[in-house]
Amino acid sequence: MNIKKIAIVGGGTAGWLAANHLGKMAVNHDHLSVTLIESPDIPTIGVGEGTVPAIRQSLQSFGISETEFIRSCDVTFKQSIKFANWLDNTKHAKDNFYHHLFDMPGPIGEDLTRLWLLKKGKPYAQSVSPQHAVCEAYKGPKTIRDAEYRGHLGYAYHLNAAKFAKLLGANACEKFNVEHITANVGKVILGPEGEIKSLETDTKGTLEFDFYIDCSGFASLLIDKALKVPFVSKAEQLFVDKAIAVQVPTAADAPIPPFTIATAHQAGWIWDIALSNRRGVGFVYSTKYMDDVAAEEKLNKYLGGKLDQYQHRTLPMTVGYRERSWEKNCVALGLAQGFLEPLEATSILLTDFAAGFLADRFPTTTELQSLTRDRFNHVMQYAWERVVDFIKLHYCLSDRTDSQFWIDNRLPETMSAELTKRLSLWQSFVPNREDFFSKFEIFDLENYLYVLYGMESMPEVGSCDIQINEATLEQHKKLELIANKMADELPEHRQLLDKINRYGLQKI
Ligand SMILES: Cc1cc2nc3c(=O)[nH]c(=O)nc-3n(C[C@H](O)[C@H](O)[C@H](O)COP(=O)(O)OP(=O)(O)OC[C@H]3O[C@@H](n4cnc5c(N)ncnc54)[C@H](O)[C@@H]3O)c2cc1C
Repeated sequence: MNIKKIAIVGGGTAGWLAANHLGKMAVNHDHLSVTLIESPDIPTIGVGEGTVPAIRQSLQSFGISETEFIRSCDVTFKQSIKFANWLDNTKHAKDNFYHHLFDMPGPIGEDLTRLWLLKKGKPYAQSVSPQHAVCEAYKGPKTIRDAEYRGHLGYAYHLNAAKFAKLLGANACEKFNVEHITANVGKVILGPEGEIKSLETDTKGTLEFDFYIDCSGFASLLIDKALKVPFVSKAEQLFVDKAIAVQVPTAADAPIPPFTIATAHQAGWIWDIALSNRRGVGFVYSTKYMDDVAAEEKLNKYLGGKLDQYQHRTLPMTVGYRERSWEKNCVALGLAQGFLEPLEATSILLTDFAAGFLADRFPTTTELQSLTRDRFNHVMQYAWERVVDFIKLHYCLSDRTDSQFWIDNRLPETMSAELTKRLSLWQSFVPNREDFFSKFEIFDLENYLYVLYGMESMPEVGSCDIQINEATLEQHKKLELIANKMADELPEHRQLLDKINRYGLQKI
């Protein structure tokens, strides 16, 4: 049987990302239509302000102008996550920090890494990429003369999530003919084989489709409530389970850091994300190790005693993912599929990746479904597990001993077998590309190098064979010059954004 009608339930970032991916695919199939149903009463989660560079490719493929995106979503450029106080400040510097940059380590990065291991003068990121200097100078990754989506350095964005969903929505409806229905979905009617047959709504009657995408957020209306697919909890590995999110106004001329700041505290960490007109700040913590009162006090201290002046809300977080994100004729995406804490901004990334993967292999007949379904579930499960490992890496490498939270994070039973194996390998060897053999490994060699060596977790020099040649030394010198030149010549971040907002970037 042909699949003709696709329904997406939910109009948050996940729903509209899916609408663009699937809508773009469907315009090339005469018989396929995409409808998005969104509740007029249930708000979107509205946080999710940090992205990773892969989002640029998707936005460009949807035909969204980077200028329009920057203007309409209060966007700033994100070139790194700056991790502060993730190491014991009695053994390391009091305000220790490192950058997880978006630019790859040097053009001959693996060699520069080896050189750094021998010398270890400056922080790792500073020794292998000019982006460290650019970030610390609060400079942008491009100039007004660079075309849309092109930059001198790798970059992603910070954005206003509610405005982003609106932009994606307008694009999907105008360019890809996605139909938008506003109604509350109530009962989900199942067919004889347990598949979803139709949806009962409060204002639009019963709606019948062939294929369903669950983007209903934490409600998981289809994949959980109707299809009862089990949830794989990751709470034993990743402990944080609550966040307090605040919006802090900023002055129109305040400097804008071109990176997310993630500051560790006794039972979690604080995000600090600068948009063009405000800061989004969030206190993320584990309720097992810190109570709500203490969390509010700590956040208040971080905000200079001004917490009461700002609107804030508390968000419980269930950490884990669906055992099968594709069940029968339904695929769950976004928070309905799963959620890991926001460190490293993985949620929009995983949604974008999964929606793109689904659109590429969308089964146009019911007979094709089982082929793609098994593959999709296998890939998603692998991707989630490796993202869990990458987030866990930040905690288990820490040598902080100032609270039980950090001590427990190093317990071997809280790490996956794969992560344990890799970490013991990397005690004797420098990680290399072959350690990352799947293309569904969302975080790759470079990401691990920045975190491992930013956290000062290096192999003993001597235990690994490190040889340096003249070309590497030359490259190192050249990199220093490039870093100084870029930090000097690239435009100041806020000035760049002001110019883009006023004049726009060249279209490609
Ligand atoms: C504290 C926190 C911080 C985060 N930070 C980041 C970050 O920095 N980077 C990142 O990538 N991600 C982050 N995320 C995750 C990010 O917020 C989500 O990935 C993103 O917002 C997508 O959410 P969603 O669309 O799946 O769900 P939601 O935004 O919750 O949308 C759900 C949609 O379903 C609709 N709906 C629900 N029930 C019904 C119904 N019965 N009938 C009809 N419609 C219905 C709602 O109306 C809504 O439109 C963070 C999340 C949290 C909790």
